[in-house]
Amino acid sequence: MRLIRKLAANVLSPCSSIINIHKIIMSRQLHSRRTDGVDKNVWVEFTQLAADYKAVNLGQGFPDFSPPKFVQEAFCEAVSGGPQMHQYTRAFGHPALVKSLAKFFSRIVGHEIDPLEDILVTVGAYQALFCAFQALIDEGDEVIIVEPFFDCYQPMVKMVGGKAVYVPLRPKGSSVLFSADWVLSADELASKFTPRTKAVVINTPNNPLGKVYKTEELQMIADLCIKHDVLCISDEVYEWLTYDGNKHVKIASLPGMWERTVTIGSAGKTFSATGWKVGFVISSGNLIKHMKTIHQNCVYHCATAAQEAVARGFEREYEVFGTPESYFQQLPAMLHQKRKKLAACLESVGLQPIMPEGGYFMITDISSVKVDFNDQSTDDEPRDFRFVKWLTKEKGLATIPVSAFYSPEHSKEFDKYIRFCFVKEDSTLDAAEDILRKWSQGK
Ligand code: PMP
Ligand code: GLN
Repeated sequence: MRLIRKLAANVLSPCSSIINIHKIIMSRQLHSRRTDGVDKNVWVEFTQLAADYKAVNLGQGFPDFSPPKFVQEAFCEAVSGGPQMHQYTRAFGHPALVKSLAKFFSRIVGHEIDPLEDILVTVGAYQALFCAFQALIDEGDEVIIVEPFFDCYQPMVKMVGGKAVYVPLRPKGSSVLFSADWVLSADELASKFTPRTKAVVINTPNNPLGKVYKTEELQMIADLCIKHDVLCISDEVYEWLTYDGNKHVKIASLPGMWERTVTIGSAGKTFSATGWKVGFVISSGNLIKHMKTIHQNCVYHCATAAQEAVARGFEREYEVFGTPESYFQQLPAMLHQKRKKLAACLESVGLQPIMPEGGYFMITDISSVKVDFNDQSTDDEPRDFRFVKWLTKEKGLATIPVSAFYSPEHSKEFDKYIRFCFVKEDSTLDAAEDILRKWSQGK
């Protein structure tokens, strides 16, 4: 206001003063620099494209079927329960939920988790990641990110002024058929550490590849974290989805890792209810307390009724854990079939799938597929982006370009892959198969 008065006093005529003030005010950059260079988002772009073209959607990762009955009922009961279910609850996690998470995960991590100190409930795993980067990374800190990585890690690191340092999982051997064939070189990872390194970010089971890190691989990462005294941010939202006897291991459960690991989970992925947006962080209270500070000053807490329903879901899973009644067994068993179905479909049209050991995505190499893009997109766009757009618009099948999960320095090497999501009704997978088959037959 003072600036405006000063400017107004200094101009000659009332008319020119208005124009000048307007010009000066409008020439200021009104947005913060934080948002520069992170405006593109693959989910926003490709989810809209799939909707615009009413495509069969094997793109964005969400089930097109309902969550299990017991959590749906728990949600309905919560909503029709007392008035308190519609009001604020504890900021850092609804008491029933933090209690059930602590009980459930203490058994898995092999460490007594304190419900009030060691857990933060967030608005999806997204906000858990956001709180972790905001609370633990300073300007100038380096964060090692293993590629391919869930795309939001990069803008989140950038927004706190950190520097992302990338190290790719590399396909080993000439015929790469399984996600396990993608390996992290211990030497390459070790070479990325500097005195500025603050954290390593891993995602197991990995999105988009489906790699499930073996204990030896996690131990190698853990050894480096301990040696260099850095944090490990471990995104484990697909922890229950493993196939063919592969087992998810929590890096926090390895010796010396509890105190330095931030484990991120998602009830959305766990109970096939991505729209509920309930996520959580489990870590040492010494780290959680700083994430709480971020959380209490941004969203404060997430929806009470959704938290109550998730609490009951975990209570129920605690009782049936390890039995065939457990949803954490039923969901991967169901997805095992869908994974086979999608792989067979891709093979039948000449596309070689890379078989995931976990998660609900499958990638395939499309470099041998000849397509005339009809100049629908710009030439400097990565080939997988052009391909996915073409497939959505021309054939009505939505997928996701894999180079979106890579840093600019490595994306060119990996723009020959696209990602299919298979957490879908069989009818959706059949519709996708129909499209691919007709296309391969030139129809
Ligand atoms: N991490 C990974 C690896 C993901 O694939 C996703 C997408 N669901 C998230 C985090 C975010 O999860 P949420 O939907 O719970 O925010
Ligand atoms: N995690 C989901 C996926 O990988 C979607 C995330 C989103 O839509 N922002 O497909």
